[in-house]
Amino acid sequence: MKFISTRGNAPAKNFTEILLGGLAPDGGLYLPEQYPQVTRAELDAWRKLSYADLAFAVLSKFATDIPAADLKAIVSKTYTPAVYSNGRADSDFTQITPLRKLEEGVFILELSNGPTLAFKDMAMQLLGNLFEYALDRQHAELNILGATSGDTGSAAEYAMRGKRGIRVFMLSPDGKMSEFQRAQMYSLQDPNIFNIAIKGMFDDAQDMVKAVSNDHAFKEKYRIGTVNSINWARVSAQIVYYFKGYFAATNSNDEQVAFSVPSGNFGNICAGHIARMMGLPIGQLILATNENDVLDEFFRTGVYRPRDTVHTYETSSPSMDISKASNFERFMFDLVGRDGEKVREFWNSVDKGGSFDIKDSPYWDALPKFDIVSGKSIHQDRLKTIRKLWADYGVMVDTHTADGIKVGLEQRRPHLPLICLETALPAKFAETIHEALGLEPERPAAMVGIENLPQRCEVMDADVARLKAFIAARVPS
Ligand SMILES: *Cc1c(COP(=O)(O)O)cnc(C)c1O
Repeated sequence: MKFISTRGNAPAKNFTEILLGGLAPDGGLYLPEQYPQVTRAELDAWRKLSYADLAFAVLSKFATDIPAADLKAIVSKTYTPAVYSNGRADSDFTQITPLRKLEEGVFILELSNGPTLAFKDMAMQLLGNLFEYALDRQHAELNILGATSGDTGSAAEYAMRGKRGIRVFMLSPDGKMSEFQRAQMYSLQDPNIFNIAIKGMFDDAQDMVKAVSNDHAFKEKYRIGTVNSINWARVSAQIVYYFKGYFAATNSNDEQVAFSVPSGNFGNICAGHIARMMGLPIGQLILATNENDVLDEFFRTGVYRPRDTVHTYETSSPSMDISKASNFERFMFDLVGRDGEKVREFWNSVDKGGSFDIKDSPYWDALPKFDIVSGKSIHQDRLKTIRKLWADYGVMVDTHTADGIKVGLEQRRPHLPLICLETALPAKFAETIHEALGLEPERPAAMVGIENLPQRCEVMDADVARLKAFIAARVPS
């Protein structure tokens, strides 16, 4: 299986070649040359598989350059119940992503029972094990540099902690994360994890990462890499749970379902789109945004118009406070019939701070074929949904999942079973849960009192030279 760039101007590569890299050299994102097709016989066989075996079956179609026995070992180590047992006490952790029935035809797919209580663990845990495997074979090292406002940083650290050949340098805005998020990251004592609290905002931290990445000599000398959401291995790991959720919600492969997906960078729903292109009978993909509604606007009007940071709101579903949806380019590549030149033209405008409009083009007419509908949920909707689920079903959901449920129930076609993806546990966003219900969300036993653990963190001015010196002092050159 070869992977090509959405901008059509980069050589095709295989899975392990793109594993450690980011963007393609032409600035595009990698996608399979053709989507592998899942036959009816395969679907029937896959229905009976455990999560790890299903992940092996799906990933085998992409990672054709990893020997099967090796891939099997990596996947079995990644998707074991011991890693995904932080959810509600009555969850069936042997399923890895248990399906919770709310009522006839309405389900929640639990994706947030991993180490950091967000669905990002599902892909990041695999990435950690794939990185370790690939680096081991190349006798190489990788120093991951990132900036986080919360979820991504902790998921990356828990996936990479204690891994051979990998160090993580994670920048976060000093004093801006919740006490719980801080404790999650800063209490890690693994010698390969370095937390750096920047005296500034998230954007300052992000700018420092960009400045270091743009210093190509430094980047090469210290083998700097990233783990951002455009990484193809992350997307491919997310395809697996669409299959798992579908099998759990249906009795036969003749049925169709709808998935509702709380969206920010379009990574999660992109995996759903690809699962459908592979042959999974998904009737509808429902995209939910919060107040930052760039993607909702596109699916309603055909205009893709990322906002600047001043017009990106801070909301109570903060992991969706995104204006530029980096993975959206992958979907657009398919929508324009895989015409790299067209994608280049659109993103020429986007990269300059502009927009594009497909309303008066054949692409607008092609859009319904992909059956993605969208909607938006704001703070008051979020509170209402959290209250309704608590009152009707005794189920507490987090703010992002609430956005997905609200839009899912609004947009689904009648009689189509609805699977709502749970992207985080309520314990991560206790403040809004408290506002909605006047209750403290339950915490997994392993995380009670983590705020009292000793913390390890370097506080630093937003100074790129200091960051470089900090890295250089810890990486043998
Ligand atoms: C990252 C994240 C999202 C958004 O997912 P995308 O793949 O960026 O669309 C939604 N909810 C939570 C809790 C997240 O951490």
